[in-house]
Amino acid sequence: MDRRNFLKTGMLGALIAASPVSISALDEATRPATRSGRLNLSFRPYELKLRHAFNLARNQRTTTPGVQVQIEYDGVIGYGEASMPPYLGESVASVTEFLSKLDLAQFTDPFRIEDIHAYMESVAPDNRAAKASVDIALHDLTGKIMGQPWYKIWGLNPDNAPNTSFTISYDADPAEMKKKIEETAPFKVIKIKMGVGHDKETVEAFRRYSDVPICVDANQGWNDREQALEMCHWLAERNCLFVEQPMDKLAIDDTAWLRERSPLPIIADEFLQRLPDVRRAAEAYDGINIKLMKCTGMHEAYKMAVLARSLGMKVMLGCMTETSCAVSAASQLSPLVDWADLDGNLLIANDIFDGMKIVDGKVTIPDRPGIGVVPL
Ligand code: MG
Repeated sequence: MDRRNFLKTGMLGALIAASPVSISALDEATRPATRSGRLNLSFRPYELKLRHAFNLARNQRTTTPGVQVQIEYDGVIGYGEASMPPYLGESVASVTEFLSKLDLAQFTDPFRIEDIHAYMESVAPDNRAAKASVDIALHDLTGKIMGQPWYKIWGLNPDNAPNTSFTISYDADPAEMKKKIEETAPFKVIKIKMGVGHDKETVEAFRRYSDVPICVDANQGWNDREQALEMCHWLAERNCLFVEQPMDKLAIDDTAWLRERSPLPIIADEFLQRLPDVRRAAEAYDGINIKLMKCTGMHEAYKMAVLARSLGMKVMLGCMTETSCAVSAASQLSPLVDWADLDGNLLIANDIFDGMKIVDGKVTIPDRPGIGVVPL
């Protein structure tokens, strides 16, 4: 036993001897002897390795850059994460630079999440994934201090968490495509990426093996509104639930035209990032896809979900390729949404957290305080 453990044990013994001892007093005793009463931020790059190469409408990739974050406060550690797919415009360099500029030690109360967000906005605009990493770590930290998971703090019923979709992408090799489809067996909704030139082939290949509902993400890949409408009708006949980002995010009038005619709901993804974008999305879309990395984290994501609901919109909760850290953070919100697309942790080969699970296709929120993760 080293001296520090000895000291901790000694304190425990003294407290137990002076009974009655509250649980909080024991918690106090197990915390480090040096208590700064300030937020201590640390971070490190962590590259996420994809199990299958991603074939998107505009690129292909096998890894996603990420940054792992910790905020320590009086011996309690909150975990956070930034994931930076290239199209978001952030990188390890930009996230590291932003986090290096932050002086979180000026804050003595981790519950001042609104103040800390205002401070981060004052340091630099954008940097949404970097801000999300801090936001997630703060929610993990404060949830742990309260001893409750965030779905409970928000008053949500975990039984209302939706099924999650699982993404497959097209593979020209029929054997590989069959293998990918077989991996989707536990899931109740399958997401198919489109706009890569094999749109109907992918759906037809999938339908040869499975009749579970699909949803489609065109990733802005359909450039012509007539083609988009034809696809929506074609997909509606093949048990599709909705279509995400059918056309370019700037094609607002064409998307509104499509929405008027489409038999399927049209959901905004690349079109929107943050809270002020929700009202704009209502003009052309039936619903929104909220992602923590786009909207600076859980604090704003919750507000977006509530606003979208009040506008009568559908709400979808998505993610990037992320470890179970950020995916579990998103899962806390999932009882509020219609559809979840929380498969990011399942798409990577090098997860470093245990957290949210998909049980029989459904989002199952961990029954642990904070965002519900433990490092592996
Ligand atoms: Mg999308």
